[in-house]
Amino acid sequence: MKALEEKILRDGQVRPGNILKVDSFLNHQMDIEFINEIGKEFHRLFGDRPINKILTIEASGIGIACIAAQYFGVPVVFAKKAQSVNLDGSLYTTQVESFTHKRTYDVILSKKFLTAEDHVLVIDDFLANGCAVNGLLDIIESAGATLEGVGIVIEKGFQDGGKELRARGVDVKSLAIIKSMTDDSIEFAEQD
Ligand code: 5GP
Repeated sequence: MKALEEKILRDGQVRPGNILKVDSFLNHQMDIEFINEIGKEFHRLFGDRPINKILTIEASGIGIACIAAQYFGVPVVFAKKAQSVNLDGSLYTTQVESFTHKRTYDVILSKKFLTAEDHVLVIDDFLANGCAVNGLLDIIESAGATLEGVGIVIEKGFQDGGKELRARGVDVKSLAIIKSMTDDSIEFAEQD
């Protein structure tokens, strides 16, 4: 998505530890008009699938998923980062290592909101090593639901998450893929 690449070049800041900061339009302040275009693009890419639910993880995925969901006409379910997990069997649980905070979280989702009847599109803001997406895929598998695809706003292609997911046959589509980044340059991978 050309407009996204231009926005990243204009507003993105590369931080130590391979972190791209896009706080001015995605991760802190949210440019809703622009995120609306992102939502439309996800619908253009995945709109032919029988998707009845969008799944994301708190916090940054939620706003993007909600805007995209309006084009699909489906609900959003978000996995929550939990302090403690109750063991009464009403929750799917998995663990996710946070790329930005370097710690592991328990992540939960109520069994009420994801079942074997569901056809799921996963949406998230970034794909780096793939921990967040893999946690969501674990939950989908536990539910017996069908994964229809994974939509990512910014993939850091120099980290292995996207490569590993595609090698497993997961249909990952990223609106921008960063090939390399340094303090003063960001390069994107060619996409069809
Ligand atoms: P992964 O789990 O694929 O290693 O990392 C993806 C998650 O970490 C995303 O949900 C996102 O919140 C966060 N993340 C990873 N890399 C970046 C980055 O470069 N910038 C920002 N803002 N978040 C990132």
